[in-house]
Parts: sequence; structure tokens; C-alpha cells
Amino acid sequence: MARGDGRLRLAFVYMGQGDCILVACPNGKVAMIDCGTARWEEATLQKIKDSVFTANFLQNYNKLDLLILTHADRDHYNQLKVVFKDRNLVIDKFYYGSQLNTYTGGCVGHWLDCEANVGASYSFTQNNDSQQKVKQEVLDGTAAGGDECKIYLLAGNVAKVSSILDGSDEKNTASLVTLIKFGGSRVLLCGDATRTTESFLIANFADDIRNLHILQIPHHGSETTSSQSDFVNLVNPTTAVISAARNSGNSLMLPRASVIQKYLNGNRLEDYQAHDIYFWEQVPTLVKIRGQNRLKKFWTYSSNTFQKNLAVTGGGGTVTIVLG
Ligand SMILES: [Zn+2]
Repeated sequence: MARGDGRLRLAFVYMGQGDCILVACPNGKVAMIDCGTARWEEATLQKIKDSVFTANFLQNYNKLDLLILTHADRDHYNQLKVVFKDRNLVIDKFYYGSQLNTYTGGCVGHWLDCEANVGASYSFTQNNDSQQKVKQEVLDGTAAGGDECKIYLLAGNVAKVSSILDGSDEKNTASLVTLIKFGGSRVLLCGDATRTTESFLIANFADDIRNLHILQIPHHGSETTSSQSDFVNLVNPTTAVISAARNSGNSLMLPRASVIQKYLNGNRLEDYQAHDIYFWEQVPTLVKIRGQNRLKKFWTYSSNTFQKNLAVTGGGGTVTIVLG
């Protein structure tokens, strides 16, 4: 059985250091959230296509019912055109963060604006200035006779608030945040949303993000996210996924061990078969300074085996989840 069989399928595609999520709804409609990389590692364009053009997603279906580009950082969109340019693809609805002309990597913004077959496109904003905070429905994926399945946007272009400590740049803060509801399950996909956006979600959508089934941990598991225990305690997922490289390098150092640990402490995170997770952490090391032994902390790239339902794409490759 495949796409359209009443199940909800998700694939967090291994992009190296980047993001791409495929969603096949119970009624067969397909959505994509982001498609980019900043560091390939073992990922290749062919491997990405192999994930996209499967029977579960777009093999026999030249239509994206919904495309969401969370924000204009290249690792979230720069492969979109090359993945689809030889296909006769229809993009029915397209939502993006900030301005389309800022998506210059891989000529993606121009392609979407002038060349691709796009039905309707929308710049999406919902932030502290918005008068009414509502879940904006962007796709109905409900199968006939099945549980309701809908995709919503919760946040977009959230502006930084001076009272919130958020070291991230404004592009990340602006990320669109997507919620999928299927029967009693909820899935939250966070792009590179950071602390400011987490606070916006807590203030306005606490009931929608409480006790999630699946969480894409924001911003590749960086420390500008998930830093408030009130966010981690509220979302309290049974399954958590991080989109990140196996080794993002010592300029990014993603994901961070401290963030992974916060989710491992969650009381709803399910047990899972043993698997390796690669991460960066600060390790105290004894060094001699002017003849004296001192403890100094150094950033270290490391891995460990865990038996909890938290996966990093860079550890085991594309993460596939089926609900229903
Ligand atoms: Zn990113």
C-alpha cells in the first residue's frame, strides 16, 4: 500500500546539513516543507530524488498540493528547482516566509515566480502584531470515511521581542511553523524557528502544541531553540526528529548535546531500538596553564547510542514515519 491509503506518511529527508520534509496525506495529497542543503556529506541529488519520487510520495503524482518554504536560508530551499525542473510538476498552493525575491540560491525564487507551474502563492505572516491568532488551514488531507487530517500554519515572520534572549538572526525567527492534525495525533514542524517563535507559540497556541505525537526539534537542534524548559515541557513529544548533518562542522556545531538531553528527559518520549546519534558538546578537559592544572571546556564532536525515539537524519539517513 502507498500514497492515498488512509495513512499519514512523513519523510524527513537526509539532506546533509539542510531540511526537507515530505508529507503524504491519508487522501493522497502531498506536501513538501523546505528542500535545501548547505553541506552535502553523503547526500546526493540522486538520493534526494530517490526519496521524493517514491510510490509513497511523488512517483506517480506530478503534483505538490502544498509547498511551504519556511524561510530564506539556503539550507531550506536551494535544491527545490533542481529536484523538480525536469518534471512536469504542478504546485497547487505555495506559502513562504518573508519575501520571495530573497530566495536567490539556485534561482529558486525566480523559478517559482516566473517559470514553475504554481497555482497560488502567499507570503504568510502571523506574529505578535497580528490582530487575531488563528490556525490557518492550508491543506485538507482527510480521506473519505477516515479521521480528519488537516495541515495548518501557526506562525510566520515573528519579530524579535527585546525581552526575550534570542541570539539567532531575524531570518530564522521569521520561519513558518506547520502543524498537522490527524485524528488524535499532532505533528509540529518548526523550520529554523527560535526562542522568540517558541514564546509566540506558547502564548497563542499552547493547546495545539501540548503533548505532541511528533516534533521536528527547531533549528537543527541548536541552542537558540528549545532552551526554555517551558517549551520542551509543553510539547513533550513521543517522537522527536532533528534535521541535521552527521557532522555539521565546528562553525555550526549542530545538534547540541544539551538540547538532545532536554528531550531525552521528556516523560512521554518512547523507547526505541538502539541507534547512534552524533552531536556537539562542551567537554571539560584538564589543561596546564602556567604550570597549574586547570579545567577548561572544549567543543567536541561525539556520538552515543540511545534507545529512545529521537532521531537525527545525519545519524541514520532519511527518517520515515507512518501514522494510522
Ligand atoms: Zn537551517
